[in-house]
Amino acid sequence: MIVAKKDTDFAHGKRLETWTIEGKGPHGLLVSRDLSVVHITGSAGPGPTLLFTGTVHGDEYEGPSALIHLIRSLDARDLAGHVIILSVANPPALEARRRRSPFDDMDLNRAFPGDAHGTLSEAIAAWMVAELLPLADIVIDIHAAGDDAFLAPGPLGHPLTDPVQREKTLGLMRAFATPCALIADEAQAESRWDYQVEQSGKIFLTAEMGSAATLTPQSYAMPQRSIHNCLVQLEMLDAPAHAYQPWQDWSQPKLLIAQQDSFLTVPYSGFFIPHASAGQSVVQGDLLGTLQDVSQPTKEPEPLLSDRDGVIYAIPTGGVVDMRQYWLVIAQQVPWAVQSYDVLEKA
Ligand SMILES: [Zn+2]
Repeated sequence: MIVAKKDTDFAHGKRLETWTIEGKGPHGLLVSRDLSVVHITGSAGPGPTLLFTGTVHGDEYEGPSALIHLIRSLDARDLAGHVIILSVANPPALEARRRRSPFDDMDLNRAFPGDAHGTLSEAIAAWMVAELLPLADIVIDIHAAGDDAFLAPGPLGHPLTDPVQREKTLGLMRAFATPCALIADEAQAESRWDYQVEQSGKIFLTAEMGSAATLTPQSYAMPQRSIHNCLVQLEMLDAPAHAYQPWQDWSQPKLLIAQQDSFLTVPYSGFFIPHASAGQSVVQGDLLGTLQDVSQPTKEPEPLLSDRDGVIYAIPTGGVVDMRQYWLVIAQQVPWAVQSYDVLEKA
């Protein structure tokens, strides 16, 4: 639950809200954290309200670093509309550098719609739904693969039936100018922040902007460019957009789709040794990696073969793979057109 709120104006058109949220931690004891929300009110004209969220997972650093850059660099005099920035949605998970909160072992992006009187993750989720979501027209939630995987960076949207929502979402995906954009039919949809936003009819994108819990000059700069391009696409900034920068051997961004069965699973947790990389094209039968069952040291490592032709959107980093957070996704490339959504619906 919300136990305190402070407001500070810190620059022209910029306000910092500090919300203290309390929830249950280990052994039912109450724990709390301060969450910082920055409001930037544009003076260049009317426009939509765009909410950015970052660090829903604590081992993903691209979102908060790009959003902290945005807080400093965006001049309210250049902005039409309103930008709201929650750069760190999950402070305890970031402190622990883990996907899940150490207080309740919950994945914040499976804790929605939350519970104001529940664990700290549930209380944060409930606060986001009650206090931030009603203010926004568009929500962009910046993630990365965290410790778990390498991936082809870019925005991730979901199958949509409303034609206006589709068109606007695909336009924003294209504006990212990242190596790929993925339309994915993901499981456990109802407990996600994504679902809370989409079911309210608002425009929503996740962005998976980096790999392996490692900031590089490229993964630090790429989300900054994409955020700028989104503001240009939404006519909130009157500025030229950044061009696509080629990645691996991809001279153009690719639109990819993934069905629920494109998210491959493993039969047990163990040591994974990748033999393929994100962005690579594969055919059925290609070796993706090997899996060693640590509990059975006499057993040979098991080869994991691709069960389909496609493009590797994500592949686990070498090391321990956790069955719960297994990131091996073989996606299909489709044309950059709104009709590409139909491929998922017919599947
Ligand atoms: Zn994430």
